Amino acid sequence: MHNKLWNQLRAQATDDAIYEQAKEYALDYIKSVDDRGVWPSDQAIEGLANFSEDLPETGTDTYEILKLLHEYGSPAATAQTGGRYFGFVNGGAIPAALAAKWIADVWDQNAALNAMSPIASALEDVCEKWVVDLLGLPPGTAAGFVGGSSAAALCGIVAARNHLLRKKGCNAAKDGLFGAPPIRVVLSEEAHSTVFKALSILGLGSGRVKLIAADSQGRIKSEQIPPLDDNTLLILQAGNVNTGGFDDFGAICQKAREAGAWVHIDGAFGLWAKASEKFDHLTKSIELADSWSCDAHKTLNAPYDCGIILCKDRSALTDALQMEGSYIIYSEKRDGMLYTMEMSRRARCVELWATLKSLGRSGAAGLVESLHQKAVYFAKRLRENGFSIPGDVFFNQINVYVGDDDETQRVLRNIQRSGVCWCSGAKRQGKPFIRISVCSYRTTCDDIERSVKAFTKARDEMTAG
Ligand SMILES: *Cc1c(COP(=O)(O)O)cnc(C)c1O
Repeated sequence: MHNKLWNQLRAQATDDAIYEQAKEYALDYIKSVDDRGVWPSDQAIEGLANFSEDLPETGTDTYEILKLLHEYGSPAATAQTGGRYFGFVNGGAIPAALAAKWIADVWDQNAALNAMSPIASALEDVCEKWVVDLLGLPPGTAAGFVGGSSAAALCGIVAARNHLLRKKGCNAAKDGLFGAPPIRVVLSEEAHSTVFKALSILGLGSGRVKLIAADSQGRIKSEQIPPLDDNTLLILQAGNVNTGGFDDFGAICQKAREAGAWVHIDGAFGLWAKASEKFDHLTKSIELADSWSCDAHKTLNAPYDCGIILCKDRSALTDALQMEGSYIIYSEKRDGMLYTMEMSRRARCVELWATLKSLGRSGAAGLVESLHQKAVYFAKRLRENGFSIPGDVFFNQINVYVGDDDETQRVLRNIQRSGVCWCSGAKRQGKPFIRISVCSYRTTCDDIERSVKAFTKARDEMTAG
């Protein structure tokens, strides 16, 4: 009986029809994504019950598997690759990159070692050079390719931790933090929660930190940063997740450098602003930091999942993340696992490479500029329709308020249910607001007009009770 299964699977491995079927379903999704509800219908979500079953005793036919995904999975997918998804800071997917990802899926490479995948190793090398160049970082800066900014921040902070302790004569990689002098961590009270998570995982403590207040634009109050020393990790932000605000890197990084402190910049979506000179006022002196985390799957519109850790001191990063094993074959060329926490990884650099190759330097600049312009236009149209948006739109994030806290939250729920567009909410200083993130190359003026109408309708429904 099992022989039958293996024979069948082996035959299917090179059977066009299966892949053609998958392609047909995928194209069906691609072509309908702009017409479907941005948030799946109640019926689609109920349909997910079709996946709840006990592990089948025997294997399932491949076509049946694909059909289940098409019939019940696709309708319940969030239409994030369309033009009217403004939730969290989730980017769109550049076509060349999505298609390249299909090819890479077929290769099914393990990007851990050059000895496992020369192509993954080569593209990581190219992407490292391109990203460092695009972002104007110091030549020779190392890049590691990870799942997202959470993992990137963890890699950057462990490099910082070990580097600072090494200067005090401690080997944290070997001895842990036992007997080591405490590292002082200084960061904004509005730092992203994933940064606190990284600090907690790395034994630096999410609560044992010096929190600095943020100003009305969500930027760290530079004047409140205490004198720095060579025992300090300072974490700054390029793009506050709520306001889109950028810290004042120039003054702060210069001082940190003189004091021998390590500066990590969380630039999950904002670091890409560096691709355009139009944002020089926001990103000036970003290159003075020691490490940077960012996401290609946000503003750059690479498909998920595609995060990057960048570290000026290559060996600080690779020393912190090294491991050994008699079976590991290191090469003279790039071994991707040296730059990340994981060993086995998919070759996500294929998509990153395709994204950058598809956009080019000018396209990357144009993309971040257009996201900003669309956000400014969106904010203008909402204000004209009576919505409250305090302050400027610095980058691609917009904070919208409607009447009191309860009204804002009710309008947000109505928008989310509308299917026309989707936004998430957040709170600043205890006050809830609707957060719009313009993060997809797909978004057009028409998408914004339709979304503004959905906002107005959601408010009317709220008023009507
Ligand atoms: C999204 C985001 C993160 C977390 O990134 P993931 O890719 O979701 O892990 C961290 N910091 C900021 C500012 C973000 O916007």
